[in-house]
Amino acid sequence: MVVGGGMAAHGFCRRIIQSPQRSRFSVTVFGEEPRPAYDRVNLSSLLAGRDEAELLLSTREWYEEHGIVLHTGRRITRIDLERREIHGQLGEAEPYDQLVLATGSYPWVRPIKGANHSGVFVYRTIEDLEAIRDYVATKQAKTSAVIGGGLLGLEAAKVIKDLGLSTTILEVAPGLMPRQLDAEGVA
Ligand SMILES: Cc1cc2nc3c(=O)[nH]c(=O)nc-3n(C[C@H](O)[C@H](O)[C@H](O)COP(=O)(O)OP(=O)(O)OC[C@H]3O[C@@H](n4cnc5c(N)ncnc54)[C@H](O)[C@@H]3O)c2cc1C
Repeated sequence: MVVGGGMAAHGFCRRIIQSPQRSRFSVTVFGEEPRPAYDRVNLSSLLAGRDEAELLLSTREWYEEHGIVLHTGRRITRIDLERREIHGQLGEAEPYDQLVLATGSYPWVRPIKGANHSGVFVYRTIEDLEAIRDYVATKQAKTSAVIGGGLLGLEAAKVIKDLGLSTTILEVAPGLMPRQLDAEGVA
């Protein structure tokens, strides 16, 4: 049983189908997002006109062909270690022998007043990108601010710039990409 349907879960599935032990396992994946794993690293390329389907690491048929049961749009909310069961948001329970957690990470939003208002976005999923694009189109937005001048902040700023908005990046460190660059590099 694999919880999380992202890039790591997909990598795990690829490895397990090549394993000589494959026949010992039935494999089921529960992913919260509405589609199979995709190349999140190239998320921004969707704006350049790339099709969503091109970003998929494997099609649904691939999972079927390899005997992997894939559930998308299904969030697992509880693990019952004693009973060896996982529980989903609909109250459903699924038994497991071995459990793999490949749940990745979520964008962490600082507790900034107003961060939950409309027009404030995180940037991690295809849905986030679509929400930004729709908002810009609907509101005919012209300006934007990106909080965080790390790799993802810069990537988000490029996305917004490509949508035709002017962008201000706000970074608490003295320079951009503080995790990657030392003071000399920033200067
Ligand atoms: C725009 C962007 C650009 C990036 N560029 C780079 C790059 O250039 N180089 C690089 O190394 N990395 C990059 N990254 C980071 C990279 O995408 C992640 O490191 C990678 O996606 C991690 O894969 P993962 O499977 O561990 O996690 P994720 O991709 O986060 O996948 C985890 C999945 O599990 C699902 N999930 C979580 N909890 C549950 C639950 N309870 N039940 C069911 N499903 C659940 C999530 O919805 C998600 O689909 C980038 C990320 C973004 C957003």
